[in-house]
Formats: sequence, structure tokens, C-alpha cells
Amino acid sequence: MSERIVVLSEEIANKIAAGEVVERPASIVKELLENSIDAGATDIRVELEKGGCQSIKVIDNGSGIEREDVPLVFERHATSKIHKFEDIFNVVSFGFRGEAMPSIASIAKVELLTRRKNDLSGAKATLEAGAIKEVAPAGCPEGTQISITRIFANVPARRKFLKTETTEQSACLDVVTRIALAHPEIRFKVSANGKEIFVAPEVSDISKRISMVMGDEFSAHCLSVDEQKDNMSLTGFISRPEYTKSNSKSIYLFVNRRFIRDNSVTHAVLSAYRQIIEPRRYPAAALFLNIPPEDVDVNVHPAKLEVRFKNAHGVYELASRTIAQSLAETETSKGNFIYRLKPKEKNDFSYSSPKIREKSPSMPFGLFSRQNLQKAINEDLLKRPFTEKTATVVESANMPAKETISFAGMKYVGPFADTYLIFEGDENLVLLDQHAAHERIILEKLKKSAAGQVVRQSLLMPEIINLTPGQITLFSGYIDLLREIGLEIEIFGGNAVAVKAVPASLSQVKISEMISDIADQLGDQNRTPSLQEKREKILASLACRAAIKANKVLSLDDVAALCRELEATSFNLTCPHGRPITVDFSLNEIERMFKRK
Ligand code: ADP
Ligand code: MG
Repeated sequence: MSERIVVLSEEIANKIAAGEVVERPASIVKELLENSIDAGATDIRVELEKGGCQSIKVIDNGSGIEREDVPLVFERHATSKIHKFEDIFNVVSFGFRGEAMPSIASIAKVELLTRRKNDLSGAKATLEAGAIKEVAPAGCPEGTQISITRIFANVPARRKFLKTETTEQSACLDVVTRIALAHPEIRFKVSANGKEIFVAPEVSDISKRISMVMGDEFSAHCLSVDEQKDNMSLTGFISRPEYTKSNSKSIYLFVNRRFIRDNSVTHAVLSAYRQIIEPRRYPAAALFLNIPPEDVDVNVHPAKLEVRFKNAHGVYELASRTIAQSLAETETSKGNFIYRLKPKEKNDFSYSSPKIREKSPSMPFGLFSRQNLQKAINEDLLKRPFTEKTATVVESANMPAKETISFAGMKYVGPFADTYLIFEGDENLVLLDQHAAHERIILEKLKKSAAGQVVRQSLLMPEIINLTPGQITLFSGYIDLLREIGLEIEIFGGNAVAVKAVPASLSQVKISEMISDIADQLGDQNRTPSLQEKREKILASLACRAAIKANKVLSLDDVAALCRELEATSFNLTCPHGRPITVDFSLNEIERMFKRK
């Protein structure tokens, strides 16, 4: 390339900057809401058309903009929030870079209507592709109204990245709900295609806003935290151990009322729960860190979603200690619902004492207590037809290319670590992961349901589950898919679903937990999965929820039933996450380990 260096035109520079700030309609909603809050609004309305892909309008009752300043709003680095460089170390406002409005204007059509409180008339401005078309006096209510249309019309490459309207709308709602969480004193209203979908009246108490946004279920199972260290404070709500989610997205972090993402603080939260909730389950939380503005740099990310703490270690410590303490207090007050990797007590379980087993066909489990039951289970295992006596892995007749597990000729020895079941064959030793096995069994049952052989269980009374507006939007797009797997739901009012039937294989699972897991899966917006992928993810997460947990002691009947069901299940070598269900040690291997060979 022999091209000469040129300075990019303002228009191109703005479009490039817009790429960092305005990724999708939700980013526009975020910037507009933050401006309204900075302007002191106490009442903010958001109107979306087609998920925000067609138009976004934000109406506030804030300070309004001086008529002469209106053209400046759209100039790069024009801001009313800082005046000298040092100010950025002290910002308490959401904006200060003066980039959002010019960025939005460069990729869409903008109409602005604004009036300050004491002015008789206001001003109106229209911009297209970043250029001001008109600024004129206009009558309007006090405050500012900004309408954005033709989003990405001049950047088709970006428009292509937009997902479905449902997904975009749900992302817009997520933005509103996050902001609403931190601002109980502001009234928010959102409508989509003319229909009101979210209303958060002004409340004096943050806990009311939290329950409105995060749902009654969370509120009923949360603990409040409130801790101070040096010049920092951490307040908010965390879930009790019995309320868990299938991903970490319900951990909302705010720094000085700004929603942020921070791996380190999230890690601190998760680590406080690690020994308390099951593996691969996550807590929910709304945590508000208050830090002197000079101790946190909010100027490290274009959309200001990430921040840098001066004392990152102190913040981590504060979060992990506060949460761990609060959880420890509930544990003592609330008893034994808490899951824990506890070391086994001495005479807690008859299998735990290491005894030498005699290998005698007449008395296969002679040295173990509960021998009758033990015998029964092994007889049960042995009774069923099998082809190859000793092999764990045999070729199954109806699945020629796949290996499947068989317990033919195996003896159940006992559990290890309350998680692995030990089996002995003539020439091998098998460890089976009880959770992984059960997960696979349930998943295959659910898949059969999805394939038309639905075994569903109708509920006598529909169960009403509250969800966030973003989740409701997502659910509405998947009602048919959920019916296919045996889950019958209807949208019920603006913020709930009514569950009428559930898949029979999930009848043990609490319905609210089932719905919350599905919501987590639907809300996973990292990419646009096919319907098929979405279905599989939902089924896998439901199977995980319904499966017997690790660290649960199984009765011998349970073990027998598990083995029987596993044998009858396809793909029974791995769990839905691809981990092995069994690990096999051949006698040969064991002898080699002992250097006998
Ligand atoms: P920043 O928020 O970083 O200052 P923006 O580009 O978002 O930059 O906005 C530029 C300026 O426009 C703001 O500093 C503010 O003075 C004004 N402004 C934008 N939106 C509003 C609003 N809703 N009410 C009052 N003033 C506003
Ligand atoms: Mg701004």
C-alpha cells in the first residue's frame, strides 16, 4: 500500500467511535437513559418499536437543554459534565466524554425536543447521518425528548449484526431494569410497539425496586448485606444458598450506582458461595459498591461498562468477606439446607470403613453390612439378560456403531465420596458418577418428549411465576418450543407466566427453579443459536437441575434403579456436558499400578 496519510473526516471518525459506543439498540437506550438521569429526571419513559431496531424514544422530565446549546449536544467532546481534565477523576455523573450523542447521530436519524423549566418555549433539532438539518424554537413540555429512527441505516454492516427483534427488545429491557435497580427514586416506564411492558413506580426503599426487577422469588430468598471498610461501602442483596441460577448473569454489580461488569468482584462473590451451593450453580445478587470517585477510574471502557479500582485488592476483600460472613450467619440460624463438601464422619455410613472384601461367589458381600439389600441389588443387576459377562462396555444390538454401558456381571461395592458408585466386575473396577449418569438419563427422556412422545403432567392449579420484563419478552418467543418438550406456559399479565403442565420426568423439580433456569438459557445472548441448539441447551440445563446431586447418599434401591435406567438410555457414556459417566480400571491396569506386572 502506497497510500498517503490522511486525517479522517469528522463523519467517519464519529462512525468509528459509534462502533465502540453504539453496538445495538440497547446501547442507545443506555446512553439516553444515563443522560436523562444526569439531567436530574425523576420520570423517564422509553418507547421501543420493533425491539428498538425501528425506533427508540426516551422522554424525561429533567433539566432540559439551553436552546443555544442544542447544536453542541451533537458535537464530539461536547459535554456539560466536566470542564477541566482533573474533573474526570471526580465524575459523579454517568457521562462526561461527550461522545454518545454524536455517535448515535452518526448512525441514525435523531429528533430532539427540549425545554428548560423557566423558558417559555423550547427547541427542536433534527439530524440525519450526523448532520444538523434543523434547529428551531418549538413548544414542548419541560424536559427532553429524544427520538432515534433509521438505526444503522447508513451502516448496513452493523445492521446485519442485529439479532431478532425479540432478542434486541429483551436487551433493551435488561438495560432499563439494571438502571432501574440502582435508581428507586426515578419512575420508569417502557412500552414496546405501543404496549406498556414495564412500569417501575418511584419507591423510597431500594428493596421494593429489587423485588420489582429481580422478582418475588429472589426477594423471598435473599439476605441483605451492609458493610463498610475505610472509605468504601458495600450494600445490597444476595441470594440465600437455596436459591440458585444456572449462570452468573444474575449477579448485578454497581459502582457508585453505575452498572458494571467486573470479573474480580464476581469472582469474590462466587468464591464466597463455592462451598455452599452445588457445583455449576450460581447465586443472584444486586450489590452496590460506594467508593470515592477519585478511587475508581470509569474512563477505561468506551461504554463505561468496566472500571478500574485504585485498590482492587481492598474491593475484592470487602466483597468476599461481607458475603461469606452474611452467608455464615444464615447457616447457623437456618439449619441444614446448605450443601457442603463435608468430610464424612466416622460411623456415618456402613460402606466407609475400609475392609478387605473376600471374593467368594457364595458370599459376595459378606463383609458389608446391609448385605441383604446389597445382594438384592446385585441379583437385580445380574438377573437381566446380558451378552458379555464381564465387559463394562459392550456393543449394543440396536446401536451398532455406539458403545454403551452395561452392568451385566457387575457387583455394586458401594459409594465413594457420596458421588461415585463403585462396581466390580471379574476383570475390572468401574467408578460411576451418579450425577452425570442421572443427567444423561433425564436428558434422553426429555429429548424423547421433544420428539413427540411427550409425557406431561398437568398441574391442578396453574403456577404463576414472576419474571423480569426482559425474560417475559424472551419467553413469548419460545412458547411453542417449550410446549414441545412438555412444558405448557402462558404469558400471564405483564410480568408473569402461568405454568399449566410440566414434563413428567421433571415433576421433582420446583417449577419456579425450572422456569428460572430456562430464562437463564434463553437470556444467553452471546450469540444467536439455532432453535435446535437453544432447545438442547434448555434440555441440558433442566436435566442438570433434575438429576440426583453429587454428595447425595443413594439407597441401594436408588442405585439399582439408576443402573437399570442408564442401561436403557442411549448415549450413556457421557453426560450432557461431555464428561464421562464411568471410568473403568482393568485388572491389568491395577496390577500394573501395583507393579505386579
Ligand atoms: P456526555 O453525557 O458524556 O456529556 P453526551 O454526548 O451523552 O455526552 O451528551 C452531550 C451533552 O448533551 C450532555 O453533556 C448534556 O449536557 C446534554 N444532554 C444530552 N441529553 C440530555 C438530556 N436528556 N437532558 C439534558 N441534557 C442532555
Ligand atoms: Mg451521555
